[in-house]
Amino acid sequence: MERLQKVIAQAGITSRRKAEQMIVDGRVRVNGKVVKELGTKVSSKDVVSVDEVKVESEEKVYFVINKPSGCLSANRDEEGKDRTLVIDYLKNAGVKERIFPVGRLDYDTTGVLLLTNDGDFANSLMHPRYEVNKTYLARVKGIPQKHELTPLKKGVDIGGFKTAPAKVKVVRVDKKHNSALIELVIHEGKYHQVKRMFESIGYPVKKLRRDRYAFIDVQGITPGDFRPLKPHEVKQLV
Ligand code: URA
Repeated sequence: MERLQKVIAQAGITSRRKAEQMIVDGRVRVNGKVVKELGTKVSSKDVVSVDEVKVESEEKVYFVINKPSGCLSANRDEEGKDRTLVIDYLKNAGVKERIFPVGRLDYDTTGVLLLTNDGDFANSLMHPRYEVNKTYLARVKGIPQKHELTPLKKGVDIGGFKTAPAKVKVVRVDKKHNSALIELVIHEGKYHQVKRMFESIGYPVKKLRRDRYAFIDVQGITPGDFRPLKPHEVKQLV
């Protein structure tokens, strides 16, 4: 017997945390009956469905995409605006598995995004305990002096949350356009974290790209294109 949320996550529908939400929201049925209890256990004989689609386990797949700007890294548009989803790029290229993004990038953020149907893989990467480094390249409005970046290196309050010390490096200064390109390495993943960190020191982000997720980058992959992760990369990540 397994917990219902685990069965859903392992089938590659979504992460375990999101599966819990699906259960609470009444989207999950066991043998045809809606089940909202998170403690529910099911056996292999039980028929589990999400949004009335039967849950069947599939082979685990892992991808990295170079996310373009103007697409959602969620599996549906919660605002009902029918905007492009990042998974559309993979579906349109023939990926059949029920993949979902590992964490989120904002609608306008570009760069490295992992996708998988392996809920346990996604969960462990997103857990703060694993401290996976994410490297961002932010174009900010204004040109910060070195000492003005010190709070980011020590940790800043981004509204009820103090960030862990980050690595910060000025990559380029553009005096003509009064902006700077700054590399920031963090291992947390709070909502809008990078934008809120720069906001907190008075230098708002105009453009944001994720350059690396741990050691995975998108060199040679054009925006909207993707590649499968190699087995040794998957192993090394978790
Ligand atoms: N931090 C942000 O503010 N946005 C992202 O998309 C990723 C990290």
